[in-house]
Amino acid sequence: MCRSRWRRPGLILSLPAEVVVIGGGNAALCAAITAREAGADVTVLEAAPRHMRGGNSRHTRNLRVMHREPLAPLVESYVSAEYLDDLLRVTAGRTDSKLATLVIERSEEAFEFLSRNGVRFQDALSGTLNLARTNAFFLGGGKALVNALYARAEALGIAVCYEASVEHLDIRDGRVAEVHWRSGEAAKVAYPSAVIAASGGFQANLEWLAEAWGPAAANFTIRGTPFATGTVLRDLLNQGVASVGDPAQCHAVAVDARAPRFDGGIVTRLDAIPYSLTVNRDGERFYDEGEDIWPKRYAIWGRLIAQQPGQVAYAICDTPATKLFMPSCYPPITAGTIAELAAALGLPDRSLERTVAAFNDACPESGFDPSQLDGCATTGLSPPKSNWARPIMEPPFVAYPLRPGITFTYLGVQVDAQARVQTADGAPIANLYAAGEIMAGSILGQGYLAGFGMAIGSVFGMIAGREAAGHDAA
Ligand SMILES: Cc1cc2nc3c(=O)[nH]c(=O)nc-3n(C[C@H](O)[C@H](O)[C@H](O)COP(=O)(O)OP(=O)(O)OC[C@H]3O[C@@H](n4cnc5c(N)ncnc54)[C@H](O)[C@@H]3O)c2cc1C
Repeated sequence: MCRSRWRRPGLILSLPAEVVVIGGGNAALCAAITAREAGADVTVLEAAPRHMRGGNSRHTRNLRVMHREPLAPLVESYVSAEYLDDLLRVTAGRTDSKLATLVIERSEEAFEFLSRNGVRFQDALSGTLNLARTNAFFLGGGKALVNALYARAEALGIAVCYEASVEHLDIRDGRVAEVHWRSGEAAKVAYPSAVIAASGGFQANLEWLAEAWGPAAANFTIRGTPFATGTVLRDLLNQGVASVGDPAQCHAVAVDARAPRFDGGIVTRLDAIPYSLTVNRDGERFYDEGEDIWPKRYAIWGRLIAQQPGQVAYAICDTPATKLFMPSCYPPITAGTIAELAAALGLPDRSLERTVAAFNDACPESGFDPSQLDGCATTGLSPPKSNWARPIMEPPFVAYPLRPGITFTYLGVQVDAQARVQTADGAPIANLYAAGEIMAGSILGQGYLAGFGMAIGSVFGMIAGREAAGHDAA
């Protein structure tokens, strides 16, 4: 809890903290704990109430870790050259390789830091994801990780203020002079010697998303915290901080259209597409559902659906196919015939029947093998289905409605290797550091590598905490 003497409504107070950390997710907590261990007096300002603390971090499952030899629970080795290669492939080279290498090289230290501070990891996984060598999974998921870090922060004497929303950093003479925040109706000001911005992306700000996406943004589902509104990011950009990343770039997946608008988390993601055909609201296919293995393609489908009319799509399959993917947390829509299924979905008369008939005609007679890229492709169909093209024949027929699910945005502030926030003219702001999603665009220009978000936040959190603690008040 926030110390009671800071809670008096309407008062303008100076916090007795040397370091103020803005945000309450993984990056903020790694920064706060590191700064405190280095001797600083630390206050965390978290916009969410206590029961919703932890941002997107509480939805996560794993951390991608470099290791030269087995590092329980990770098996074999995953050396930095391979890690960087994986990253360069998914980002098509749009990566600051110096900062990326820094994250990769220190990801093992981040794993040890989290372990030392109470985060537990589960035994290596087997199965389709194939991540036992590269990604360490949090026992109990991101919620357990966040709870462990808060427990550690509180034990170290870090002050945590909930429902404390930072609205403005007053940058004067090249340094943050004041931090303006709000706690309920009360406006407050802090005068710390150093500030760490770890307030996430702006994906929960639908008006800002609409600047890049237009009215389509009104139909987006936000998979994580509603508190990632980008208030601090926008405030910094308005004051001449250097921006990185494309405002229209974001990590977006297909989620069940019945998911809540915010905070549905991992369970609302739908993985039916490779074993289905996917149509828009006109009953027409619009992309190759079997282009590649799902871990390499799932993150393009949010954007594809966002480009369709009404930002909605439907994955259609038959009963045998439902055994091939993780079921949705919502029940499938089923019908005995394709015509009845189309009626249940409200698709135009006969459109789905025509699409399914054309698809079935284009499928080969054999060769279907869901365990690998089987090359079982349609013939003469546009767009093609390049793998797993199996006719939809056996009722009951099944549909799942889909919407774009935004995971996080890529626009952020530019930092250097000391996590110092840079101005547009290339000079660092003297006492301002950033960690996590708010600066991830410094490294990730496009694409995504599973487990890298938590690696960036943990490593830059540790760097920012260390640097901020060493910062002398002017
Ligand atoms: C469903 C889902 C699953 C994911 N799975 C993984 C995974 O398995 N592995 C992985 O590496 N990444 C994963 N990610 C991405 C990952 O969540 C992020 O990369 C990571 O959590 C970023 O951490 P962060 O601390 O920067 O941001 P967050 O955890 O989002 O924290 C931001 C914090 O800032 C606070 N805040 C915002 N504005 C203000 C303000 N004005 N004042 C004060 N506080 C403010 C918020 O309340 C929040 O506490 C997933 C994301 C989602 C949505």
